[in-house]
Amino acid sequence: MSTRESVKGDLDVVVVGAGFAGLYALHRLRGLGFSTTVLDGASDVGGTWYWNRYPGARCDIESIDYSYSFDPELQREWQWSERYATQPEILRYLGHVADRYDLRRDIRFSTRVTSAAWDGGAARWRIRTDRGDDLRCRFYVMATGCLSLPKTPDIPGVERFRGETYYTGRWPHHDVDFSGKRVAVIGTGSSGIQCIPIIAQQAAALTVFQRTPNFSRPAHNGPVPAAKKAAFDADPAAYREAARWSRAGVPMNYSEVRALQVSEAERLAAYEAAYASGDLLALNAAYADVGTDPEANETVCEFLRGKIRAIVRDPATAEALCPKDHFYGTKRPCIDTNYYETFNLPHVRLIDLRRDPIRTITERGIDTAAESLAFDVIVFATGFDAMTGAIVAVDVRGRDGARLAAKWADGPRTYLGLMTTGFPNFFTITGPGSPSVLSNMVVSIEQHVDWVSDCLVHMRAERLDVIEPTPAAEAAWVQHVDDCAQITLFPRASSWYMGANVPGKPRVFLPYVGGVDRYRKACDEVVRRGYLGFAFDGPGGARCNDGVVVRLQLDVAMLLERLESLGLPAIETMSVADARAFSRALAAGRPPGPAVGETVDGLLPGAAGPLAYRCYRPASPGPHPIVAYFHGGGWVLGAHDSDDPFCRDLCVRSDAIVVSVDYRHAPEDRFPAAADDGFAAVEWIAANADRLGGEPGALAVCGWSAGGNIAAVVCQRARHAGRPGIVGQVLVNPVTDCDFTRESYLHNADGYFLTTALMRWFWDHYADPADRTHPKASPLRATDLAGLPPALVVTAEFDPLRDEGAAYAEAMAAAGVEVQHLPCRGQIHTSVVSVDVILSAAGARAEIGAALRRFFANARPAERRRAGSR
Ligand code: NAP
Repeated sequence: MSTRESVKGDLDVVVVGAGFAGLYALHRLRGLGFSTTVLDGASDVGGTWYWNRYPGARCDIESIDYSYSFDPELQREWQWSERYATQPEILRYLGHVADRYDLRRDIRFSTRVTSAAWDGGAARWRIRTDRGDDLRCRFYVMATGCLSLPKTPDIPGVERFRGETYYTGRWPHHDVDFSGKRVAVIGTGSSGIQCIPIIAQQAAALTVFQRTPNFSRPAHNGPVPAAKKAAFDADPAAYREAARWSRAGVPMNYSEVRALQVSEAERLAAYEAAYASGDLLALNAAYADVGTDPEANETVCEFLRGKIRAIVRDPATAEALCPKDHFYGTKRPCIDTNYYETFNLPHVRLIDLRRDPIRTITERGIDTAAESLAFDVIVFATGFDAMTGAIVAVDVRGRDGARLAAKWADGPRTYLGLMTTGFPNFFTITGPGSPSVLSNMVVSIEQHVDWVSDCLVHMRAERLDVIEPTPAAEAAWVQHVDDCAQITLFPRASSWYMGANVPGKPRVFLPYVGGVDRYRKACDEVVRRGYLGFAFDGPGGARCNDGVVVRLQLDVAMLLERLESLGLPAIETMSVADARAFSRALAAGRPPGPAVGETVDGLLPGAAGPLAYRCYRPASPGPHPIVAYFHGGGWVLGAHDSDDPFCRDLCVRSDAIVVSVDYRHAPEDRFPAAADDGFAAVEWIAANADRLGGEPGALAVCGWSAGGNIAAVVCQRARHAGRPGIVGQVLVNPVTDCDFTRESYLHNADGYFLTTALMRWFWDHYADPADRTHPKASPLRATDLAGLPPALVVTAEFDPLRDEGAAYAEAMAAAGVEVQHLPCRGQIHTSVVSVDVILSAAGARAEIGAALRRFFANARPAERRRAGSR
């Protein structure tokens, strides 16, 4: 380490880290007139590319994409020699950037930050380093990288080994010669997979210790592909703009087709093409549901396992190399050069630690449960304390001395992955809660640095000293990040994305999975709406613009955008016949829903003639309880089969027979035809339970939208009539009233599929104004709700009907009815019934199934008692 005087100073900004992020931050901030110093523990620039010098280290995002875009001149003058550049070439690039923009003069190398404390009185951070520096700054920016703090190896005896030891993430600067040596590599993540084939070329014997096999496929590295280069050179600015608004920071087409929608032959052809492309993202892009649907994902897994089995000659080794404990992509996949082929070499051996775990490292090698092995060298490719490790490694203290490590003890809490409440003027570049490691890092780094720089400029112009996110904005963002993750397969894997690789680290999905494009939109919107979710203070005044930037669930937002892009006509502008045809067409392309034991169509007597029904039976042996179901469609649209996927889902989740009943529709048959048919149908189902394969007495009702209205009315009538016995009601976004002035009508009038205009159209077709207040039309208007069956009322946040649903739940509870109200955050009117489309509503569908099972379970003892006394 070079010697230097310790420094004191008062700066605008201290940036920690001199990698891609820190270098660009320095360039940008200094250019904007902010005095800036960068601190880095390394002796030169490069960040992760400074430390990860292990043999075979190279990027796995194509170098054209994995490079700065901020300066067209820089782009023009730098040409990459390979498709995926090696670590030395990337380091040369970063050195070139440092020289070109004269950055080194403001970087203090070989300097580690030990503590950072916010001084609220002075509105300054106080930064101390291991070189005795004592710096004050207005803004403290952590550009420490997501994968920079190597994980402490959690293997007993590590310190005992007397041979050479190397860590991929802290590789020495001198050449390491493996010739003639017996080498062990522990770890088969990206680092292990890259270095193993190269080490094998030199070593006398190589033993690979694998705990979890990873999915990898050939990178097909070589010269920069001509097509890629041509696409970039044709219009670099447009190319970069496309990357900024892409899903993962690389311009790419993502399929909207589901994997199991196509034939196996077509699917395999798509996978072969993705495999041949050598592109890390290609398999994820091949089908829309690879990241969300277990069955779809399994088709990719099996395809890749087939490739491994075809390459590796020893079947036992091949099988051990086949990942079977996680879905493709839920642990970071790899691309390689001759990784699997390496295991065909006579001097290379794989030890599967799942079968033969390491007992201890010894002075001379590694003892597994089965044998004692001697080595000259051990290489640890055991990974990093990702995303949060490097940030909390510094003793960061915010307001009132609060420790960041304590605040994040149960998982990081950030607003946009950029800031965290209680730590004013503290920014994290590609912090947890931003796309970061799920994206091309350079694109995400530039976006964050630009956002922070623009923010500082804004504060300077407005004479503001202090910025901090509001607790509500942060809480909502943390929730949003988790909501997005939950609709994917990611949380099911023990990955470093989940913090699962570090013992004791909380299991929280760390990056934002909603996409670079969507994330950028949210960040831009925050600014456009006056820094929504931030509080500022300074001579320019104190201001707090509290609010939540993203409120719709990710898949709901995507669906609404897709519908909007189709430019569909509004239903209420159509004739009834056209509206019916239109709604049938909309339903035609939807996923079918889960398989049930069987479906049987039939006719039952309605109030004024036969009604069609469809009966869904579970695969389990009967008899089963029965759910009488009423479809949605505003009393005008739909039929007994129009909510088919949802009825299947209900049947599977509740293990009950679902009888979906048609009822007469308006305007041909206006109020109270639908309600009367509903009641007649339920009476018939109760009387014919045996015939349907059901348990007598175990009958619940369920309905969605106008069907929820019918279900609610049926329960009121059954109570009044004293028959039939109904053990529970599930009302999903029900119409319960005819009042259009509730807040949810006003706030959600437009844009969330069910609009106020459409609701008026439905009502106009169904009932005369004078009839609408009748409890058979507006069950909320009933004077007495006591004695109704236990209820689950589901409402959606962005639904005009939200408040009347909630009001009905409240009114029933006030009348002593056992009620569960399930408000669905970020959902719209159609979410819950959109099975396998709105995955974020799967939790609500599970609650519905659970409620029905509960209704039946609670009712059975009474029923049995009644049956016994008969
Ligand atoms: P990693 O993906 O976390 O892999 C670490 C490996 O070590 C895993 O196989 C892990 O097994 C194993 N391991 C950890 N502790 C162990 C123990 N106590 N005993 C036995 N095995 C143990 O780390 P990495 O390979 O350094 O890669 C980290 C990330 O850095 C990558 O996912 C990627 O994002 C990035 N990276 C990128 C590149 C590139 O661009 N080409 C190159 C390298 C790294 P388990 O899976 O069972 O925990």
